[in-house]
Amino acid sequence: MIVGGGISGLFITYELAKRGVKDVTVIEQSYLGSGASFRNVGCFRASFTSEEHVVLMRKSIELWLRYREELGIELEQSGYLWIARKHETVESFRKLSMFHNSLGVPTRVLSADEVLEIQPGINKNLVAGGLFDPVAGRMPILKNIVKLYLRVKNLGVKFLFYTKALRLKTSDYKVHAVETSQGVIEGDVFIIAAGGRGSRELLSTVGVKVPIIDETRYAVISEPYARFIRTAIIIDWDTPGAPYVTQTDHGGIIFARNIPEEPEAPITSHKMDSLGLLVKPLIELIPVLKHVNLVRSWIGYYDTTPDHHPIYGPVKPYENLFIAAGFSGHGVMMAPITGTVIADWVLNGKPSISIAEKLMLERFEKGQLIKELAVVG
Ligand SMILES: Cc1cc2nc3c(=O)[nH]c(=O)nc-3n(C[C@H](O)[C@H](O)[C@H](O)COP(=O)(O)OP(=O)(O)OC[C@H]3O[C@@H](n4cnc5c(N)ncnc54)[C@H](O)[C@@H]3O)c2cc1C
Repeated sequence: MIVGGGISGLFITYELAKRGVKDVTVIEQSYLGSGASFRNVGCFRASFTSEEHVVLMRKSIELWLRYREELGIELEQSGYLWIARKHETVESFRKLSMFHNSLGVPTRVLSADEVLEIQPGINKNLVAGGLFDPVAGRMPILKNIVKLYLRVKNLGVKFLFYTKALRLKTSDYKVHAVETSQGVIEGDVFIIAAGGRGSRELLSTVGVKVPIIDETRYAVISEPYARFIRTAIIIDWDTPGAPYVTQTDHGGIIFARNIPEEPEAPITSHKMDSLGLLVKPLIELIPVLKHVNLVRSWIGYYDTTPDHHPIYGPVKPYENLFIAAGFSGHGVMMAPITGTVIADWVLNGKPSISIAEKLMLERFEKGQLIKELAVVG
């Protein structure tokens, strides 16, 4: 039984069904992808600052590439362009790139001229240099999730939409059922992939504390234009809130930035005053963007943990309870590896990639937090 019909729940389901597990049911309180999974910008990379992220994302990208054949997944590896406005940032990029290279991720540092070669139209006066991650990229998220959903349906997985998991029912350190808005459903194994607040609230019903907060993120999209943003994404790294710009396969140019807000503000809030803050630094950096007509904005949540890494694996003291949540803005790129390691835990008792064990829930109690500095937007 999987709670959460987002991309994490889908990939866990896919991996379990592929390995021959029967009777997999997904419970989703709303419609497919209604959490963060249909509100993101579909980018992926392995250029992170923690070893855990770099290793897991590298593997995850390998899987995304394999799924082009296996699932008909669409994606392009057009790279991440990180812009440094300050010279000292270029120096940190140099160290970071050596770290990436040592883990098999071929990022490279760029001069200001090289930045302009990659993306013409950037205001060179503002650029000290950059970092380029060539294995990174972007994907049409809606198409890919729908393809994955249809495949898992074909594998016999059952979906219960508009069914909210209200509380877990336990005895003798085992979960035996979940009480939902549509009645009680029994099961053998329970995997909570209900994003941020959803996972936190559900696990609190069995006394388990999960330190995840849903942080709001604003994005705004333009009408469609011919391809202009040449890389998957351009990140203005030295501006607070790490604003970024990306362009979808249908031509819309998306701007986003982390503008601090009250945590867990309703998904329907419309903060028009955020829009100016969001686009201003990016227009300064790429002046031609001032001509773009914006048509729509939206809010989504980064389901954020204190160390910006997800929570994976068994939930103690229960024998048959697992979690995959708290992706802190990186749940799409991680989703294939999430599926793999959670299926490993359920079926083999441990993940096939041992570094994933560092991401278990108990790290918060033990004070073994891991730092990630490269959180974008
Ligand atoms: C603006 C924005 C841009 C982003 N860009 C990127 C990006 O480029 N790359 C990337 O990797 N990530 C990105 N992210 C983050 C990414 O979208 C998330 O990390 C990812 O979607 C998490 O997927 P999930 O399946 O774990 O959670 P969700 O998609 O949130 O799915 C959880 C599901 O659980 C359901 N649920 C919750 N509680 C219950 C309950 N009690 N009972 C039943 N169902 C329940 C919810 O309705 C939801 O559908 C971005 C996020 C935002 C907001």
